Amino acid sequence: MSAYTLRCVHCGEEVPEHYTLSCPQGHPSLLRADYAEQQLNLKNAPGIFHFGSWLPIQGTLPIDAGPVSYQSEALARELGLPSLYIGFNGYWPERGGKITTCSFKELEALPTMVRARETTNKILVIASAGNTARAFLQVSALTGVPVVVVVPEKALPRLWTTVPAEKACVIAVRGDYTDAIRFSREVCSLPGYIEEGGARNVARRDGMGTVMLDAAVTIGRIPDYYFQAIGSGTGGIAAWEAAMRLKADGRFGTALPSLHLSQNLPFVPMVSAWNDRRRDLIAETDMPDAQKCISCVYSDVLTNREPPYAVPGGVFDAMSATDGRMYAVSNGEARAAGALFTELEGIDLDPAAAVCTASLLRACESGSIDKSRTVLLNITGGGYERVREDYPLVPVQAAFCVPAGATAGDVKTELAEMVNHV
Ligand SMILES: *Cc1c(COP(=O)(O)O)cnc(C)c1O
Ligand SMILES: [Zn+2]
Repeated sequence: MSAYTLRCVHCGEEVPEHYTLSCPQGHPSLLRADYAEQQLNLKNAPGIFHFGSWLPIQGTLPIDAGPVSYQSEALARELGLPSLYIGFNGYWPERGGKITTCSFKELEALPTMVRARETTNKILVIASAGNTARAFLQVSALTGVPVVVVVPEKALPRLWTTVPAEKACVIAVRGDYTDAIRFSREVCSLPGYIEEGGARNVARRDGMGTVMLDAAVTIGRIPDYYFQAIGSGTGGIAAWEAAMRLKADGRFGTALPSLHLSQNLPFVPMVSAWNDRRRDLIAETDMPDAQKCISCVYSDVLTNREPPYAVPGGVFDAMSATDGRMYAVSNGEARAAGALFTELEGIDLDPAAAVCTASLLRACESGSIDKSRTVLLNITGGGYERVREDYPLVPVQAAFCVPAGATAGDVKTELAEMVNHV
């Protein structure tokens, strides 16, 4: 018997698992994994694979990257929060943080690569502008499993791994992230390739959900508030789904955590829609001057124009079910909060984690949370300075570069060759 089944959130029907991303009946809804084990049974496996019984995979990888949680002292004292827990997802070996690409995207890449290995013979294609690309390249480098990563040319300097990614094929697109996504669809139209899926991929969500699982195990219960900076909001959906499983487990409490999610001004589409309690994003209202706003933010990983917000089982539903709040954080607030965190807790942050820390400061000042309750602050990335002390960072080169708007035909020969060499 399989340890999990897939179910459509809209119709509730079971869906066959062939690295399936959507309901075969065509419902515009997320799928969810249903695990055979109702209680969280920790496995004797490294890193994230400790939580393998609630990941949509059977096997593991010998990689020790995983979520880390600890109770804060210094920041907790500064903010007057007696029960502040930090989920640290990056590189900080002194605290057990072993994510060498320094963001929680590696928690998504690890189970995704295993899910793909177990359910399809095709090669995963990932479009990314940074952290996701690095995470998949690193897992490919460590496992020797091929991947195709499509990035805007400008993102190339952000791509590095700690060991050479010999089986990875990076395609640079002379354009922006949207052009990279378009070209990745072209690649997926070729035989032998499959789209990774983003928020629709249950392995990605349940991988991120291990941040909530690890925190609940550390705290002994589900936290009352969950703070995270969002671009797509997939991490927020994942935290909600993980909390529902913990609630059903019975040993971690009966209340879901309230989601406190943040975006970076001036690009804050989901904050705008949620503050109107609107399910649908309206481009003119929620993201006017998108291109210009995106170019102004401190944290560009938070600038997704097509987040899974309205979709059944998506961000709107997660926020509604948990009585959530959203915060719009300015660049200045984020920088100041990031500096405060580094001074008090002792590690450098990804700009997105600085945005999240700023939202917690705001929540404490504005009275939007009860400070006596338990808070989980998801530090979604950090340790970029720390990792350089321990590892040589190997730059990743593009295999080839295509203009924006190129078609699959332009790279057919190269990619066909790669499939044949696997
Ligand atoms: C991708 C990313 C986020 C946003 O995550 P989503 O939940 O997918 O919106 C936040 N922080 C960091 C460091 C990221 O790389
Ligand atoms: Zn369905």
